[in-house]
Amino acid sequence: MKFNVEVGPQFEGERVRKDDLYIEFGGPKVGAKVELATIKKMDEVEHGKITIIGPDIGDLAEGGSYPLGVQVEVAGPELDKDMEPVFERRIHQYCNYIEGFMHSAQRNDVWIRISKDAVKKGLTSLEEVGKVLVYLYPSELPIIEKVAVTFITDSKKVEEFLPSALTVYKERDERVKGLTEEVVDEFYGCTLCQSFAPTHVCIITPERVSLCGAVNWFDGRAASKIDPYGPQFVVEKGELLDANTTIYSKVNEVVAEKSMGASSVFCLHSVFGNPHTSCGCFESIAFYIPEVDGVGILTRDFSGESVNGSPFSTMAGELSGGKQVEGYIGMGVEYLRSPKFLKGDGGLRRVVWMPKVVKERMKDSISPEMFDKIATEEHAKNIDELTEFLNKVKHPVMSGEFS
Ligand code: SF4
Ligand code: ZN
Repeated sequence: MKFNVEVGPQFEGERVRKDDLYIEFGGPKVGAKVELATIKKMDEVEHGKITIIGPDIGDLAEGGSYPLGVQVEVAGPELDKDMEPVFERRIHQYCNYIEGFMHSAQRNDVWIRISKDAVKKGLTSLEEVGKVLVYLYPSELPIIEKVAVTFITDSKKVEEFLPSALTVYKERDERVKGLTEEVVDEFYGCTLCQSFAPTHVCIITPERVSLCGAVNWFDGRAASKIDPYGPQFVVEKGELLDANTTIYSKVNEVVAEKSMGASSVFCLHSVFGNPHTSCGCFESIAFYIPEVDGVGILTRDFSGESVNGSPFSTMAGELSGGKQVEGYIGMGVEYLRSPKFLKGDGGLRRVVWMPKVVKERMKDSISPEMFDKIATEEHAKNIDELTEFLNKVKHPVMSGEFS
């Protein structure tokens, strides 16, 4: 297969920086962005069909940020609905095989950057990206027999597509409800992001969705079965060494091996001690606020500064790259609903601040008592205002009674 730009795993991890940027799709400047993989019946997918709805790369003004919807439809006699999130996450991997093409984040956070060099070499159409996906899916995952790809760059059409994708994400996230770490025999790991963060390892449990938010326990299980030598794998639990922060002996062994010794202890449910590493595509950040001994939550789509004065991009720079950074973790937003959310630190009783939209989204998972005690940007824009608010509502962190 011949493409205008080179394609291969050697380009994973390649970044497209501001000075090299031709255009970007999605990302923080764009509201309408989404990607979805869907399994269809064999006769519903025309293999190799690539559809572009809206202007193409070559039609768009250099330097701009544009909306994007990507829909990958796959078919194969042995495919199962459970595999959809696995195939969806491969959009990230395969797109990053393309020279001068950087894919980050996922779902309705997706962000794609295309370099000037790539456009000069002929990457002037999304058709080429579609061809790469059509080529790679069946060759990397033989269980897939047919692939069709649709790119939507028309803002209105992306907006129309978005609600159906959000419904699918919600259904996937709800599947793991009720399943606990104690009842399952194994967890799953993912190292897909090591191309950008070489020492990063994700450990995914029924009570800890991946930090990208795109891989839950069921997805890890499906992925490890479809592609046992792929980036997602089985992780045995071993002995529970610390029930509070949640340290398992065999998880530690896997983390040490897969991080090439960079991390050897993982607390699955704490921002302190040896927290989980963060790559760069986390949906949100849990960050310790020492002045009030509480934890704040900041999401990627929150514009402006968080309560500690840092915007998302600054804070993300501090914790990304596969390091264990005490006081910070990157996390999937749905992790807030987990009964084990930061169990070692006091859980939601330790949370003092989060964006209003997140608090509303999580309303049914936060106790009524705590709901009114957690500040948002409407209550506190800085630490002084936060301290005043927490005192007023008698937040448990003010008396140290959060555990
Ligand atoms: Fe895999 Fe974690 Fe990266 Fe998601 S964030 S793709 S689970 S390594
Ligand atoms: Zn990542």
